[in-house]
Amino acid sequence: MSTAPCRFCGAPLRVSFCDLGMSPLSNAFLKPEQLDRAEKFYPLHARVCERCLLVQLEQFEPPERIFSDDYAYFSSYSDLWLKHASDYVDQMIERFGFGSRHLAVEIASNDGYLLQYFAKRGVPVLGIEPAANCARAAEEKGVPTLVKFFGAGTAGELAAKGRKADLLLGNNVLAHVPDLNDFVRGMQLLLAPGGVITVEFPHLLTLIEQNQFDTIYHEHFSYFSFAVAEQLFARHGITLFDVEELSTHGGSLRIYGRHAADASRPVGSRVAALKEKERRAGLDRIEAYRAFEERVKRCKRHLLEFLVEAKEAGKQIVGYGAPAKGNTLLNYCGVRSDFIRFTVDRSPHKQGCFLPGTHIPVLHPDRIREARPDFLLILPWNLKEEIVEQTAYIRDWGGKFVVPIPDVTVFA
Ligand SMILES: [Zn+2]
Repeated sequence: MSTAPCRFCGAPLRVSFCDLGMSPLSNAFLKPEQLDRAEKFYPLHARVCERCLLVQLEQFEPPERIFSDDYAYFSSYSDLWLKHASDYVDQMIERFGFGSRHLAVEIASNDGYLLQYFAKRGVPVLGIEPAANCARAAEEKGVPTLVKFFGAGTAGELAAKGRKADLLLGNNVLAHVPDLNDFVRGMQLLLAPGGVITVEFPHLLTLIEQNQFDTIYHEHFSYFSFAVAEQLFARHGITLFDVEELSTHGGSLRIYGRHAADASRPVGSRVAALKEKERRAGLDRIEAYRAFEERVKRCKRHLLEFLVEAKEAGKQIVGYGAPAKGNTLLNYCGVRSDFIRFTVDRSPHKQGCFLPGTHIPVLHPDRIREARPDFLLILPWNLKEEIVEQTAYIRDWGGKFVVPIPDVTVFA
């Protein structure tokens, strides 16, 4: 049993969802001089609350330490993600008519990858981002950014100054929030009357159905079904009036919220349809959660079988990407440079570093051409199409692609 209570409802956490053993923080990349030092490992054990069915991890480090100044994630390094952001901005302007008299506020605005498109279309913007280096990059794009963690405190200060959001968005931030209730209360405080909230997060239903256990990592405290998200927002006076299923991050939801009293936006039919889909998959009962772990163990065995067989046959395997999910996968499976010679990443912040725990070197993508690997293991499988396109040249020497999730798949 976990020592911490459920972060949403406070009940004791007694049911295991997925125990991935001990793992370092996934963004704790190592410099060469750190390789011979001790490394901190933490339990990576997701549990499900029997009362509210929120899947969650215990938090071992304060967010200040996890999302510090050298936080290595810069959104703008993925073309696909930029396209997603730009499409989103077009859709919101078209659907809700945002313009120069409105304010779009993004929580965890990163390097301004998204708000830059609102600014270009003349909609005033404000980013809220705790990582100072990301915020600096945003300011350079013309996106004013408040360097702060978001919660009821920050929201109250802005609202008191008359700064309320007509559009308040948070993409892939809800999972990273230690105090969920404070965060959503803050969203309610900052939302202007008649305003719209949109929040995107990976969908727990897809995580379970597609066996995406590697999206469980320490920075990711909570894993939501639509039904649980609806309860959470309702508790703080926000009604979810629409939802879309997206393909980002292997399967995400975009939920639309408004003040509970705002009758101008009726609850659309997609809400009931999605809740029904989750019920059919058993997400309203604890048994569906208990059954997950066995499938995760099977996936590990299959990946190891592939790697052992390839190495025994004298093949060379190289990784692509250094995402958090790669670290979960490699640490859980015990795969180090004995199997994967190196991995590559487009982010210059990661190049020259080593993956935490497994110490696999992270190099520039050009090194794939030099090494001519037999297999390229794609770690950010959610960006598979983009990566295959960029590295199609490995076919010139008979190289093949490998994707580990939902089960090991090799293709040319
Ligand atoms: Zn709970």
